[in-house]
Amino acid sequence: MSTNQNSDGAALPESTSINGKRNTATNTGGRTPTLSTDVDDPSHPLHQHRRIVSDFEYKEILGEGSYSTVQAGRDKRTGKMYAIKRLDKAHIVKNNKVKYVMIERDALSRMNHPGIIKLYWTFKDNRSLYFVLDLAKNGELYTYIRQLAPFDMETAKFYAAELLLAIEHIHYRGVVHRDIKPENILLDDNLHIKVTDFGSAKIVSDENNDNSNGGELATPSRSFVGTAEYVSPELLRSESVSFETDFWALGCVIYQMLSGRSPFKAATDYLIFQKIKNLDYVMPDEFPQVAKDIIRKLLESDPEQRFGSEAAGGVDAVKHHPFFEGIDWEHIYSSNAPPLRE
Ligand code: ATP
Repeated sequence: MSTNQNSDGAALPESTSINGKRNTATNTGGRTPTLSTDVDDPSHPLHQHRRIVSDFEYKEILGEGSYSTVQAGRDKRTGKMYAIKRLDKAHIVKNNKVKYVMIERDALSRMNHPGIIKLYWTFKDNRSLYFVLDLAKNGELYTYIRQLAPFDMETAKFYAAELLLAIEHIHYRGVVHRDIKPENILLDDNLHIKVTDFGSAKIVSDENNDNSNGGELATPSRSFVGTAEYVSPELLRSESVSFETDFWALGCVIYQMLSGRSPFKAATDYLIFQKIKNLDYVMPDEFPQVAKDIIRKLLESDPEQRFGSEAAGGVDAVKHHPFFEGIDWEHIYSSNAPPLRE
């Protein structure tokens, strides 16, 4: 499996909006990987299990990204439904996105966790690359926050706990996600989360990382990626970015579930960045004390002091915070999710 360890210069993100969506900004350079996939090689152990375009019956379009279309698809061999992400090769190459597509594939293929979208197969035809993924039928957490927030504490706690476990696994597999936000948290048929969109991820170790507390990196990452409202301050200070950046985003997501809006909101990206740098956010009076406390600890400007960092006790310290009291960490993904209805 290829690992990209380029260190890229930090810069302010471009503020582009495609299809009216809040767009992820990236500014990374480096070598251009090829569009071939490992299983194309007949000596690859998964070669005989691979799928081709005609193995699927294509159904409704689930959504569109800036350079991809996601469609429901039924595997003709098994009848199982998947989400099939189709990426236009010419468009990817023309827009210098090859590197991000390959990072997404490489990062996703390391993941094996109920809270993370699973990548089953990749294949291609003359025009497109295809990723066959878990189908998350209930769409984005963002939609539910927009419609139903503020969430009650039980609901916010449940989704924060599932997200924390997903982040723990992502880090355990040697990856920093770098774009955790409600739009990238999908919900399956049972309203459990599936984290997606690893296009901004950083793969920081070749082997599976046995350090699950967000500690040492094989290589610090200096790439500038993310989405303005959820970008961590160390990124804006052009410091190296590590696992702790995902804990900052967790703090933003908890805040957003409990209030309906992200903590650092402003009219322009520049103003958002000023607020983030100055830690200028308002903690609503009505937030329960335990929520205020965990948000303050996650929205800590210094990544080394931030909740989730090794110095602050790693993921275990976060799990033991009173905000998460009563969470059954072992069985949360097999438990009944909150109803998410008004
Ligand atoms: P961009 O590439 O511009 O950042 P994106 O990451 O949202 O956008 P895609 O990953 O192609 O782009 O997803 C497009 C849309 O398809 C998403 O907004 C989501 O609503 C839907 N979608 C993506 N993956 C799945 C999935 N596994 N199951 C169900 N719906 C999905």
